[in-house]
Amino acid sequence: MTGNDRERLLLHCCCGPCAATVVQYFAGTGKQVTGWYYNPNIYPPEEMRLRRQALQQASIALGIPLLPPEPDPEPYEFLLAVAAEGGVRCRACYRLRLEAAARKAKEEGFPAFSTTLSISPYQDLEAIRETGEAAGEKYGVRFEFVDLRKKHRESLERARSLGLYCQNYCGCMFSDLERSAARALRAVRKVKSAAPAE
Ligand code: SF4
Ligand code: SF4
Repeated sequence: MTGNDRERLLLHCCCGPCAATVVQYFAGTGKQVTGWYYNPNIYPPEEMRLRRQALQQASIALGIPLLPPEPDPEPYEFLLAVAAEGGVRCRACYRLRLEAAARKAKEEGFPAFSTTLSISPYQDLEAIRETGEAAGEKYGVRFEFVDLRKKHRESLERARSLGLYCQNYCGCMFSDLERSAARALRAVRKVKSAAPAE
């Protein structure tokens, strides 16, 4: 099979670490993969830049092309989407990402699209499947759903060996706050455990 008769797939990528293994999986099924960074709610902006850069590094190492990224979205768009989803922030997040990816796939002539979210054990895969399929129907492109969570550890190891930036929180301002709160709690516990008994 040549590059010309392989089906083209647009892979929505939210950063570099998961891309390494997801790209390899789809290439193994005969797809011609093109990546596209879209991560509309990453906070703070410096983090957005780091993740986009990690994907650029990964694309060079993996030898896949990337479509140019969109301009950074306004932070309030995510908050409006969360409100519209009744406060269920991850659903809102999946919808923003996957609708944008379906629309991009349609505009660029891809018959199918998928997402690197499918390898994360921290995400709700069933919600991702539903959201991706609905987005695909809306824009007339097929959503390729796959559950690659068993390969997550392998993907992280590969990402580290490629020297990619690997973040330690999901990405939005809520997850950033949760990380800070957990850190503060650990510090309080440490101080308490080190204090002399009364
Ligand atoms: S926790 Fe992660 S998946 Fe959920 S809204 Fe935040 S960035 Fe999106
Ligand atoms: S699921 Fe998380 S780690 Fe994986 S590409 Fe998306 S943001 Fe990055």
